[in-house]
Amino acid sequence: MTLLDGKKTSEAIQDEIAAEVTALKADGSKIPHLAAILVGNDGGSVTYVNNKVLACERVGFVSSLFHYEDTITEEDLLNKIKELNEDEEVDGFIVQLPLPKHIDTEKVLEAVDPKKDVDGFHPINVGRMVAGLPAYLPATPAGILQLLQRYEIETFGKHCVVVGRSNIVGSPMSILMSKNASPGNCTVTLCHRYTQDLAYHTRQADIVIVAVGIPGLITEDMVKEGAVVIDVGTTRVPDASRKSGFRLRGDVDFDAVAPKCSYITPVPGGVGPLTIAMLLKNTLSASKKEVYA
Ligand code: ADP
Repeated sequence: MTLLDGKKTSEAIQDEIAAEVTALKADGSKIPHLAAILVGNDGGSVTYVNNKVLACERVGFVSSLFHYEDTITEEDLLNKIKELNEDEEVDGFIVQLPLPKHIDTEKVLEAVDPKKDVDGFHPINVGRMVAGLPAYLPATPAGILQLLQRYEIETFGKHCVVVGRSNIVGSPMSILMSKNASPGNCTVTLCHRYTQDLAYHTRQADIVIVAVGIPGLITEDMVKEGAVVIDVGTTRVPDASRKSGFRLRGDVDFDAVAPKCSYITPVPGGVGPLTIAMLLKNTLSASKKEVYA
């Protein structure tokens, strides 16, 4: 069994990005600039956004953070997005989700200029991804592709079972794994909360990718010997022995499942760290105008 080390892979990608930024600085080119909008004080969201800003600093990007109270009106938020769309200094920006209930998330995501949508959540980027056109790929699925690629895991002709059909992970992952690409060319089964006999499906899988947010959902009996298991779940569970009062748990019962696997991601330190690296990669692409001229 080989552990897929997301932390190491993320650091390698960030080193590559930092080297490109150094070269851009050396020839006086514009430095990539990522902006982030954060609404409210949800613990997870604050941590994620702060980590994104810190990662920008590490690779030499410019970053800006716009933090609003959760009482901000939808109109004010849309105005800020318009301002960032028009700000030539900003190459890409993200709106940290989830947003408060009084704000229409779809409307907000659609207000972002697709050219600056480095999260890849705008329907134009989703459509371009499905059509196989250049697009910003959502960071978590893109990070999983990087893991598969850098660990040289064969996907051609394999059966990949994706569990979870969210817009940001499961659904795009299922599309990317089925593409005529490398990694890709899998036969894909997409499971969700109404799937009957989930274990029947996961047991067929050469590659299982789980993104449901239910700690320990995937047990030892649900995985075939030699499978590749990618765990996207990061649920905060109470842990009095930690200073933070919680620890992260994946969707896979790691201790029981790991011995059966050829490759498996730990939680934390698996898929999580790659998400930030891929956001930075998208921002670099935005500043180089690689996706949209
Ligand atoms: P994420 O943001 O990690 O992708 P979401 O909470 O947005 O996660 O989505 C959870 C997904 O998990 C949904 O697509 C839902 O259908 C799926 N799901 C929830 N419970 C189960 C279950 N018991 N078996 C399979 N899939 C499930």
